[in-house]
Amino acid sequence: MVFYIVGAGIFGSVLAERVSNILKQKVVLIDKRDHIGGNCYTFADKETGINCHRYGAHIFHTSNKRVYDYISGFIQLNQYRHFVMTKSNNNIYSMPIGLRTINEFFNLNLTPSECKKFLEKKINDDYIENPNNLEEQAISLIGHELYNAFIKGYTKKQWQRDPKELPASIIKRLPFRTNYCSDYFNDFYQGIPVGGYTPFFEKLLNNDLINIRLNTEYNDIKKEITDNDFIIYTGAIDEFFNYCYGKLEWRTLKFEWSVENTQDFQGCAVMNEADEYIPYTRTHEFKHFHPECNDLIKLNKTIICREYSAEYKQGDVPYYPVNDKKNNELYIKYQEKALNTPNLILGGRLGTYKYMDMDKTILQALVCFDEICNKYF
Ligand SMILES: Cc1cc2nc3c(=O)[nH]c(=O)nc-3n(C[C@H](O)[C@H](O)[C@H](O)COP(=O)(O)OP(=O)(O)OC[C@H]3O[C@@H](n4cnc5c(N)ncnc54)[C@H](O)[C@@H]3O)c2cc1C
Repeated sequence: MVFYIVGAGIFGSVLAERVSNILKQKVVLIDKRDHIGGNCYTFADKETGINCHRYGAHIFHTSNKRVYDYISGFIQLNQYRHFVMTKSNNNIYSMPIGLRTINEFFNLNLTPSECKKFLEKKINDDYIENPNNLEEQAISLIGHELYNAFIKGYTKKQWQRDPKELPASIIKRLPFRTNYCSDYFNDFYQGIPVGGYTPFFEKLLNNDLINIRLNTEYNDIKKEITDNDFIIYTGAIDEFFNYCYGKLEWRTLKFEWSVENTQDFQGCAVMNEADEYIPYTRTHEFKHFHPECNDLIKLNKTIICREYSAEYKQGDVPYYPVNDKKNNELYIKYQEKALNTPNLILGGRLGTYKYMDMDKTILQALVCFDEICNKYF
């Protein structure tokens, strides 16, 4: 019996590690890319040595002890805490919206309890009984001024559609704080692996029972799989079934990289661009992710990457699923077909057509491994 795992991202790599280390079974792990790590892949830039995230900034955060204990067996997180700034109308504010942002934006000096009352009034004034679209929904959650400054332009760029044409269901809640906490995430465990994510994957896959084949498509190995083998597939579910029910929709991203001859370009790792006339949604400056690398922090060069949201076309990297009613119904049809296919497990964000943070993906893989053990071993 061999476990054929398609995709060397987090889901595939965690399962490869568990199957080889715990079950002592052979694994063939393939990926069509020329590297392991999937979208979490990081690399040290040749010119500067700065560790960069090729597919967009990835910050590890979780409150799940099982996930944290699992990753701690392979890596150490550094002390990075995620703060996000956002540019709006030539001013810079902290995100998510908190007491500092509200006081600066409205030019006030409110205390937390005054701020709560102030926001309640704004929301009551703008309340819409049955929001018909994303714009109405957002306005009834935070009021029109904050919506216009922070949500409208960003959402328009993200979806390339007017928020009035987007369903209200995209936004369920818009978190805001009435204190000065500027942490982006509330999770207990946070950070970036020391040395980046790729060494984490190298450690996960350091077992002679794992045969890694890069630049390899699932179709290249299909013929060698027998009825005794397992397939763990972390590619797109519709692609696996040759799009027999139709294509699922995705959003993609484009990245524009540059080396800047300055020590610090923007003063933080991620700067959002809320204004519609700026075509990109955010700028990453990678050196800030590694405060432990003092020599690189002091270096008079920095790497920045601008992120653009774009419509997905065949051949692009599928980043975000478009989880509207039509696509979710189509996904369920594929999911039923997968459940009726013996020895097949579909997992990860492409296999389950769901956006998942890294900790959720790791948990999904660990639970999937428990199920394999209970059912077959
Ligand atoms: C822009 C962006 C930023 C993110 N930031 C964060 C963050 O800050 N924090 C966080 O926790 N999470 C973040 N995430 C989520 C994180 O990327 C995912 O949780 C994680 O990548 C999911 O891992 P995966 O194994 O499911 O998928 P992937 O990492 O996509 O791995 C799937 C792999 O399968 C391969 N593959 C697909 N089809 C085939 C095929 N037919 N044959 C061979 N190989 C194939 C692909 O090449 C890919 O390498 C972010 C996601 C995006 C898009």
